[in-house]
Amino acid sequence: MKKYVYFFGNGKAEGRADMKGLLGGKGANLAEMTNLKLPVPAGFTISTEVCTYYYEHQKRYPKTLASEVRKALEKVEKVMGSRLGDVKNPLLVSVRSGARASMPGMMDTILNLGLNDAVAEGLVASTNNPRFVYDSYRRFVQMYGDVVLGLQPTHKDEIDPFELIIEEMKKQKGVHLDTDLDADDMKELVARFKAAIKAKTGHEFPEDPLDQLWGAISAVFGSWMNKRALAYRKMYDIPESWGTAVNVQAMVFGNMGEDSGTGVAFTRDPATGEDVFYGEYLMNAQGEDVVAGTRTPLPISQLAGEKPRIYRELERIRKILEKHYREMMDIEFTIQQGTLYMLQCRVGKRTAFAEIKIAVDMVAERLITDKEALRRVNPDQLNQLLRPVFDAQEKEEAVTRGRLLAKGLNAGPGAATGRVVFNAPDAEDWKRRGERIILTRIETSPEDIKGMQASEGILTARGGMTSHAALVARQMGKVCVAGCSALAIDYSTHTMRVNGRTIQEGDWISIDGTTGEVIEGRVATRPSEVQQVLIDGTLDPADAPVYQEYAKLMSWADKYRRLKIRTNADQPDQSRNAVAFGAEGIGLCRTEHMFFGEGKIGPMREMILADSTEARRAALAQLLPLQRADFEGIFEAMDGRPVTIRTIDPPLHEFLPHDEAAQRQLALQMGISYEKVRQRVEGLHEFNPMLGFRGCRLGVIFPEITEMQSRAIFEAAANVLARGIKVQPEIMIPLVGNVKELADQEVLVRAVADEVMRERGMKIPYLVGTMIEVPRGAITADEVATVAEFFSFGTNDLTQTTLGVSRDDAGRFLIPYVEREIYEKDPFEAIDRPGVGMLMKLAVEKGRSVRPNLKVGICGEHGGEPSSIEFCHQINQDYVSCSPFRVPIARLAAARAALSDELAGGGRKPRSRKKAPGTSKTGSRGRSRTRRKSAKRGRR
Ligand code: PEP
Ligand code: MG
Repeated sequence: MKKYVYFFGNGKAEGRADMKGLLGGKGANLAEMTNLKLPVPAGFTISTEVCTYYYEHQKRYPKTLASEVRKALEKVEKVMGSRLGDVKNPLLVSVRSGARASMPGMMDTILNLGLNDAVAEGLVASTNNPRFVYDSYRRFVQMYGDVVLGLQPTHKDEIDPFELIIEEMKKQKGVHLDTDLDADDMKELVARFKAAIKAKTGHEFPEDPLDQLWGAISAVFGSWMNKRALAYRKMYDIPESWGTAVNVQAMVFGNMGEDSGTGVAFTRDPATGEDVFYGEYLMNAQGEDVVAGTRTPLPISQLAGEKPRIYRELERIRKILEKHYREMMDIEFTIQQGTLYMLQCRVGKRTAFAEIKIAVDMVAERLITDKEALRRVNPDQLNQLLRPVFDAQEKEEAVTRGRLLAKGLNAGPGAATGRVVFNAPDAEDWKRRGERIILTRIETSPEDIKGMQASEGILTARGGMTSHAALVARQMGKVCVAGCSALAIDYSTHTMRVNGRTIQEGDWISIDGTTGEVIEGRVATRPSEVQQVLIDGTLDPADAPVYQEYAKLMSWADKYRRLKIRTNADQPDQSRNAVAFGAEGIGLCRTEHMFFGEGKIGPMREMILADSTEARRAALAQLLPLQRADFEGIFEAMDGRPVTIRTIDPPLHEFLPHDEAAQRQLALQMGISYEKVRQRVEGLHEFNPMLGFRGCRLGVIFPEITEMQSRAIFEAAANVLARGIKVQPEIMIPLVGNVKELADQEVLVRAVADEVMRERGMKIPYLVGTMIEVPRGAITADEVATVAEFFSFGTNDLTQTTLGVSRDDAGRFLIPYVEREIYEKDPFEAIDRPGVGMLMKLAVEKGRSVRPNLKVGICGEHGGEPSSIEFCHQINQDYVSCSPFRVPIARLAAARAALSDELAGGGRKPRSRKKAPGTSKTGSRGRSRTRRKSAKRGRR
């Protein structure tokens, strides 16, 4: 018989930490902590399989579930020495969700379950604490009414109906704080809550604790499909099929007086990664008060003075957990009348800064290996490390001029500037209009996540470092200032008052998530520490601790990765930046970008409009020295590293002026009539330029263009070589679908190369290869590779031509396509493995079948996207090429791909670097041999 319920308590648990799939993260870790003999209140976990069953069977449960729950409940009752519904000695329980991946606040929770009027009276008699009892009771009715019975605000500006009743009560009593209400007031609140529930939902509040329990269990399973959870799952790629578990656990109370309390903590600082115990607590409060951010809690260090024994115990548990899990953990605890209980532990969410520092520190502490460190750091997190900070001078000026509005908690590091918006739906709207937004809320709740995602930064008036806003912002990598209590926010007028000033919706503010400062107006941002060290050279690495950790991690990545990392660059400064970030070559230099540079567009246009070969050659002769100078700059910047230069690719009309004034000016410059220019431009018009006269077709029809570009490349190479700098040019012919196109161009390139080498009396090592970016090129790769010494996948074009989707017009329908899961991800961002990926794999295999040492890379945008990089590793490519700022991400992604190979067993061996027969480095002589060889292999 299948087991659905797993008990934990009294030092023994039926589950373990590695059973997250079945018990969810919370359930598995409660079991693990119980087995570690940590003080965990007894309880049981209903497995995620029940959730799956529930949705597959019209919200019904497996037949055996009720009896399993009853038995587990009896065990809990036995351990706790109390019973659910027992008037004299009642057990109260919490009912919480817990999915395999943490989804903070997305699903529902019910606390203090088991209370009814009779039990409450009994508890008053046994605790002698009527205020505690009725406060717990009213919280329970409130939560149950909201979560199970559905009494919630129906509109974004509406206040919670229960909070309204509390406010009314406080007004009647003439008090300001919830804590000013006494036991009788709380009792009265219970009655009013129940009446409101009856009036608004038509449901009586259930008095039988078992009915309450099943209502709560169903509500928690039901919350797996609520809007927030669905949105969160989509955002973080959590499959629906995982389901949630439900944890039922004996309640312990942090609100039983001043010797009770509750807190949340991290075993290290989640913002910086520093090895300090980091957290917050509140005495005489329940957990929801800390997490919901309704009261601002105290730093955990203060507990050392206030309750030294408890603090020491927490420190001990912190050490046990870190050693056991070898991770930074996030814990929740409650102190009930001087006794400490652990209610949760999970791997703590953290900023990228903290992720990297913790990983690097833990390697030094010998808790983990460098390989584990690499597996932990998600390549996208590196983005955060490269993110801007405020320009220090501008910020100082803003502060001296009195623009510092207030200070809150530095909950999510980084600098953000944007316009104030007061609710999440508006934030989404404004973002759609292209605005930069700072979402400003009294506090955030899980409903706000999409608005948070749309914002540059998040600012809240209430809540601590572990409030919802802080947690979620850190995970998203957003800048966040939380708990800024000087803000008086008025949702109804969309304004806030702060230090005597009024900020309206749409006004600019700037927030510093590293210091907690909130500044009126815009403040310019400046490059990150890593950028200042590597690119700008304005910071000494010795004064840059974040940079040092980054560098260490990168050195490990380089140790394990097999893929080489190149960059897409067509300017010397871009090339230098990329090298500073670790690029090992240029994978794509788009020569056409150069034609828009100083002094070049004129001769370029003359070349295009020329009506004879002679005229075209004359214009090309003007372009030659300009291109040569560009290439020299790049070769110098790359200092001996390979540089792949692509011959001209875009349709020619892209270079031409389309308005009359510019056409007239061009006519004047060329000494021909305006009419002629106009006619020629019109003549070059294409209905579908992307599939038109572009790529190698230009070079085939106008060979003199390829010749000029080749000459510029080889003369530049010769000049740089003469200055003692090595060069490795790789000439790449774009958009090849037929080997004959490539063969045609190859002859031209090699003839020029031979000529220049003869003229200059030197040998220049070079390769001739092609882009694989149309399906025919991939499908006939065995033919293409008889000529090509390398392939580089142009996955931008290969995606558009394979899918038949225009890369320029896809936006309108691709987003809905991804939402409807027609494509799992935007295929222009992450390689569509079953379609485009299959063609790539085929091309590698076919290409290498005739030329075993064929060098293979990628230079489409996918070359900087981690999952695509993993795929490139899997199909045995040699390198990926991406934009300079993505180079560090690519280095890490490549290392992780190699390590996951290793985990999967075996691992891909680096391909032999032995020269393949016929892969000439210095000329065309080897080519015919390659062909002979491949022909032989074909026969075999
Ligand atoms: C490609 O098609 O992937 C590519 C790199 O070339 P471009 O984007 O310039 O067409
Ligand atoms: Mg292309």
